[in-house]
Amino acid sequence: NRVQCESINSMLYEVVELLKPQANLQQISIEIHIAEENIMITCDRSQIKQVFINLIKNAIEAMDDKGLIKILVKRQSKQIIVDIIDEGIGINKEHIDRLEDAFFTTKDNGTGLGLVITKQILERHHAKLLVFQNKDRGSTFRIVF
Ligand code: ADP
Ligand code: MG
Repeated sequence: NRVQCESINSMLYEVVELLKPQANLQQISIEIHIAEENIMITCDRSQIKQVFINLIKNAIEAMDDKGLIKILVKRQSKQIIVDIIDEGIGINKEHIDRLEDAFFTTKDNGTGLGLVITKQILERHHAKLLVFQNKDRGSTFRIVF
């Protein structure tokens, strides 16, 4: 796999296009808000797209019918931040430390591997994954490049 300079904007738009049919079934809309014209990162394009797919799919799966998933991209000094904010069920306090464990899932048909793979890819890119509970409802998964 090739590591080169890639646009976060275009990777996100491609992934959201891919996941729209699944979101539409639940009447979920997905908004992308990007603070700058084009934010570039050095990465393996297909791997970082896989990270976006895993996190946005989880956001969809955490929500019942109707709602909004917001994706915010911004630059903060030397870091690039991608927030995936859902209006889903949120994360149980007892589960928060186990989310990234292999095979941990709360879903009937879950594999519990999405976040493990996500973390491995991000580590290879020297990026971090953070999880927050939203004030009102749902959770936010934050990638820091
Ligand atoms: P899977 O999706 O197969 O269950 P993941 O590794 O992607 O495996 O996620 C592990 C678990 O983390 C999920 O089963 C769920 O309990 C929790 N989780 C992940 N993303 C979210 C989210 N956006 N909202 C609520 N819970 C989540
Ligand atoms: Mg998953």
